[in-house]
Amino acid sequence: MTRSLFVYDDIFLEHDAGAGHPESQHRLIALMDHLDRRGTLTGLRRITPRAASLETIERVHEPAYIDGIRLMSAATTADTVISPATYDCVLRASGGVQAAIDEVVGGRAVNAFCAHRPPGHHAEAGLAMGFCYVNHAAVAARYLQERHGLARVAVLDWDVHHGNGTQHAFYNDPSVFYFSVHQAPHYPGTGSPSECGEGAGLGTTLNVPLPAGCGDGEYSRLFSEVLRPALETFCPEFILLSAGFDTHVSDPLGGMVMTEGGFESLTASVQSMAADLCEKRLVSLLEGGYDLEATAASVEAHLAVLSG
Ligand SMILES: [Zn+2]
Repeated sequence: MTRSLFVYDDIFLEHDAGAGHPESQHRLIALMDHLDRRGTLTGLRRITPRAASLETIERVHEPAYIDGIRLMSAATTADTVISPATYDCVLRASGGVQAAIDEVVGGRAVNAFCAHRPPGHHAEAGLAMGFCYVNHAAVAARYLQERHGLARVAVLDWDVHHGNGTQHAFYNDPSVFYFSVHQAPHYPGTGSPSECGEGAGLGTTLNVPLPAGCGDGEYSRLFSEVLRPALETFCPEFILLSAGFDTHVSDPLGGMVMTEGGFESLTASVQSMAADLCEKRLVSLLEGGYDLEATAASVEAHLAVLSG
């Protein structure tokens, strides 16, 4: 019997982004409290993540940069500081995604949600930025290709911010399709429609910037009218979802007006694409989401569809 997986470990509480930082351990504390209270976890199989090997991380990141995170000396931006626990947290977060992938590819689970922090989609090959250090989705795409021999992987990103790191990791690479819908103008400033890949990767990056104020209806239409036909053309063997919940109307860092119901619809849409194109194989990764209650309620809605 295959079920949905839920990946979490208390080690994710130990990365410390600094006093008053929106990307705090309280995001996961509030999430776990909420899911516990609502009984959401009872229908899911919990797995404890392992640490990812350096070899798998270094398929995306420069070895000296990763060692710099261990030594707390890596290049970062001012809002993205390294704490003593950051190194162990990021390796365990990426390793959790890999453990979930092994279960899904092995047919022992149908899909998975990884409740980890810090997030990953802004992390570049040699730079921590936007609260991100290791690009878990990018590392996961390479892991799917190299460990499991998959040829084509799609990374879908509905976080309110553009996933610059993920885009750059595969910009020349036709084997990984990157789709992002994000608020523009907004941080980090990349993700215009003209950024569509280059060289052999031309056409396998798809950016849809939206003005602030968009919500459930705009996102839902975009997924059925723009994303679905593009994915049908690409024909992925596995879908990774960079699930940021900072598009929620209550989020302090975004200007969109999505609701829990909107996340439910988007999840159903992605799940239906996975069912039609890649035997339902889908692993979802927590990216942003900075209003504690809104993120917790949105993840609950997301999980209800994934495990339905
Ligand atoms: Zn974000």
